[in-house]
Amino acid sequence: MATTSLTLDEIYDLVYGALRNAGSNDENACAVSRTVTHAERDGSHSHGLFRVAGYVNSLKSGKVDGNADPEIKKVSPSVIRVDAKNGHAPLALERATSALAELATAQGIAACAIVRSHHFAALWPETEALAEKGLVALTGVNYKNWVAPAGGSEPIFGTNPLSFAWPRPSKTPLVFDMATAAMAMGDIQIAARDGKQVPLGTGLNGEGEPTTDPSQIANGGILLPFGGYKGSAIALMVELMASSMVGEAFSYETALSDNDDGGPAAGGQFLLAISPAILSGNPHWATHSEELLAKLENMEGVRLPGARRHQNRLDTGPRDVNSELVETVRNLAS
Ligand code: NDP
Repeated sequence: MATTSLTLDEIYDLVYGALRNAGSNDENACAVSRTVTHAERDGSHSHGLFRVAGYVNSLKSGKVDGNADPEIKKVSPSVIRVDAKNGHAPLALERATSALAELATAQGIAACAIVRSHHFAALWPETEALAEKGLVALTGVNYKNWVAPAGGSEPIFGTNPLSFAWPRPSKTPLVFDMATAAMAMGDIQIAARDGKQVPLGTGLNGEGEPTTDPSQIANGGILLPFGGYKGSAIALMVELMASSMVGEAFSYETALSDNDDGGPAAGGQFLLAISPAILSGNPHWATHSEELLAKLENMEGVRLPGARRHQNRLDTGPRDVNSELVETVRNLAS
């Protein structure tokens, strides 16, 4: 694969240019550019530059409002509802996490319902931002129905990612962020683009047969949940919490209303933030949790989730990006 070297500033400028060209205002373009640049910085390639064409398509088709001004309403002492106003999710999320952190720090626990949002990114930026403010965080989002429940062959769930973060004073938070499908659709598409195979159990082809060919899964096939019926149960939980619980559509309803422009569909997201300082009543809660995390970090063969990304982040130098992808984004930005 031919690659092109880009600094993080160059990545940001390309994304910003592409979004502005497609009609995004400055505030929305900045928020999405930060999300994409942070994904490339951390090595989350399936949710970085790879997504820019989709962001642009969704602006050009009129599905997403590039001038959206997300609105936050406090509906109880510890609950906020965020109407993303049909914008790309990053601006709504930046505003939501900041308001949610304030409530959870005061109340001990707070929840946020996000509606009419177009999420096309990884979830760790939201949970990590909350954990950096001393809070335990959980979020999940649903999407179009690409995943069959365990034992079934009809797609019901989205790839329904779930992210959890735990605060570590003076350290980068512990974060996991995972699709509840055996593989995120972005990774399937990248594997198909690069001519790679995927493990058996990732998905089925159009005839319902197991396949290792990602293009057969992406085109007319179906994804499977990770971990059989256990992963299927977690996918179901995310499906309910990101839709019915916040007042938004199920993945199969979202798919019916989407215009299939290749950009992010409209949908919901939940965010929970909990203060361990208030819940535990123990001023030394972090010393206690650090004991467990240190045991894991010191164990042969074990690493903490998030550690790969956080290691990548320390490198502030240029990133090698697929040259075809760079060309695509350059064309959109020029
Ligand atoms: P991965 O399977 O790559 O990783 C899942 C989690 O496991 C990460 O937190 C990762 O940490 C951690 N991890 C990986 N390997 C190890 C290991 N050996 N030991 C300990 N921890 C490990 O992620 P997915 O492919 O499932 O998801 C990729 C992204 O796709 C996510 O960011 C998700 O939010 C996003 N997504 C977004 C969707 C949307 O609609 N917006 C839909 C579906 C997915 P690390 O990062 O450090 O490797």
